[in-house]
Amino acid sequence: MVHGDHGAALPEAFPDKLSTSALAQCAATGRALTTLRREVLAIFAGAPRPLKAYEIVERLSTPSRRVSPISVYRSLDFLIEIGIVHRLATQNAFVARDRDRAQDETLVFMICQCCGDVDEAVLPGMTRSLAATADAHGFRSRGHSIELQGECEDCRSALANPNRRG
Ligand SMILES: [Zn+2]
Repeated sequence: MVHGDHGAALPEAFPDKLSTSALAQCAATGRALTTLRREVLAIFAGAPRPLKAYEIVERLSTPSRRVSPISVYRSLDFLIEIGIVHRLATQNAFVARDRDRAQDETLVFMICQCCGDVDEAVLPGMTRSLAATADAHGFRSRGHSIELQGECEDCRSALANPNRRG
């Protein structure tokens, strides 16, 4: 099934910043940004909130072209590996970020449980601190992100002023 809103049309909304970051990472590591990887990035560019893998599959698929979930998962794995896409474990969903981060920075994702919006911030110096904590427990951490659950500013003000809309 294909959602009609965006279909698989891509180049118009091609994510320059995302693709530039991805291309730079690929060049640095000698990997290729294949067509499908580019297409997956383009889906992220037009997405207002985190995407589930099946949503990406649906948006890339057309009546004449069926994209397989496994190939989308492989593309996502690649984009995660090069640091462009992040998996939100608590949402079982993915977001793309073009920000170039220093090795020692940890990403904090603030996930609104009312509207699903995700904001992000960087905590400089946090990675070392987290690694030290993990080390003290003999734990090997693979991620450099933290997820916070709550309500965004818009939803909080809507909740505080239920009669004011828009
Ligand atoms: Zn919200």
